[in-house]
Amino acid sequence: MATSDSEVDVVIVGGGFAGVTAARELSARGRRAVLVEARDRLGGRTWTKDHDGHAMELGGTWVHPLQPHVWAEVDRYGVETETFPVLEGLRQAVVSDGRVVDLSDEDAARAMEAFDEFCAPGATLFPEPFLETLSADPQGLGDLSLRDQLETFKAEPALRDWVEGMCSLIAFGPLDQSGASEVARCYVLGGYSAEQAMASLSATKLVKGTRELINSIAGQATLADIRLNSPVRRVAQTDGGVRVELESGETVSAPTALIALPMNVLNSVEFEPPLSQVKRTASEERHAGAGRKCYVRVKGDIGNVSIAAPEAQAVNYVVTYDHGPEGSWLVVFSAIPEKLQMAAFDDVQGMQAALQPLLPGVEVESIVGWDWANDPHALGTWCTFRPGQLTKVLPDLRTTEGRLFFAGADSASVWRGFIDGAIESGYRSARDIDTYLS
Ligand SMILES: Cc1cc2nc3c(=O)[nH]c(=O)nc-3n(C[C@H](O)[C@H](O)[C@H](O)COP(=O)(O)OP(=O)(O)OC[C@H]3O[C@@H](n4cnc5c(N)ncnc54)[C@H](O)[C@@H]3O)c2cc1C
Repeated sequence: MATSDSEVDVVIVGGGFAGVTAARELSARGRRAVLVEARDRLGGRTWTKDHDGHAMELGGTWVHPLQPHVWAEVDRYGVETETFPVLEGLRQAVVSDGRVVDLSDEDAARAMEAFDEFCAPGATLFPEPFLETLSADPQGLGDLSLRDQLETFKAEPALRDWVEGMCSLIAFGPLDQSGASEVARCYVLGGYSAEQAMASLSATKLVKGTRELINSIAGQATLADIRLNSPVRRVAQTDGGVRVELESGETVSAPTALIALPMNVLNSVEFEPPLSQVKRTASEERHAGAGRKCYVRVKGDIGNVSIAAPEAQAVNYVVTYDHGPEGSWLVVFSAIPEKLQMAAFDDVQGMQAALQPLLPGVEVESIVGWDWANDPHALGTWCTFRPGQLTKVLPDLRTTEGRLFFAGADSASVWRGFIDGAIESGYRSARDIDTYLS
């Protein structure tokens, strides 16, 4: 629906899950919004792309019943889910001491026990994880890096390397730049269980892709005028409201605005008056999530594999997406993409070299993915706080400034960094804006 400025209650900047959920929730409260999104699609850091007969998720993928906000949406719209990776016949392995060590079911269970032990300090860090307490950190675990924590962690080498691989996968950035709290909180949110945490992070996906879910939510944002291809340049608070200026020169004004941008891109928009020093510093230093996820087509039937590797490897996790005699699709995760030594994103030879330690002899045919860390509208992947950011940044990231409200997965209180967190923040901000306008 098209809306003239005088009728608009709120301008929403950013059309990821946070902004779109807020638009729907505001519609339900009778509030009119204009949502301005820089890209030619909704979904932000989620992006379902059709390729080779698959609905491939280039960004956010996995959801889980332990993630209450996204699961409520899955139920609400009857969105079909499926198990991924397929567990039947799954070969699990880890790269340890330069070779691939296969893990029997018993080994895999022991690796999970080791991970439980590693995560256990989280139990006292977040005593009430589903309440708004995830920025409290009396033990200072958030000031330690995951590398600091790993250095004191003892387990037999292959199990320790598997735990390190999982840490790299969860942080998706350098371990010495990722807060120890980031893995601990997943453990806590998984019901103080490493196994449940891993299931929450990587067991269930949407059959038709995240786009089905975001389109369902957007479809009920009946009072929102959604404008794609509308990058915002400047947001100015005036005496009577907020004026949002687009790069095209157009402006949209309203009594309030919701800034639903990734933390890392806040500084690419000019704010008048400037945002708080904490928000500006956080956006400048960025969170640590800057890894690379891509789909890699390889020759032959690789079977169902799930292989982890410690940080020293360029690839830290690989899992089969689809396989058959004509070839297989793998999903490849690299926490530090610079280690891939790939001349370009689709450098087949570079990827083939990086995969050898995990899958010796593998032959790469093609690569599909997206470089989120260099995407100007994301500048990173999911939010992994650096040591210290949990307590110093999180409370302020969520704090209203004048007529500006803030939402996003990066500042969620429960599943921060996840689709669930984006939806949670959309609910919260819509409620707060409605109260403010009442
Ligand atoms: C590779 C990858 C894998 C992931 N895997 C998972 C997973 O398996 N499960 C999970 O739960 N989460 C996962 N995530 C994280 C999850 O996708 C994000 O945390 C969540 O989608 C963020 O939602 P958001 O609305 O807060 O932000 P975003 O989705 O980033 O939305 C912000 C929007 O703002 C727009 N924008 C930016 N600048 C401007 C501007 N100047 N003007 C107007 N609009 C602008 C952007 O284009 C974007 O659409 C993954 C993320 C990545 C990148």
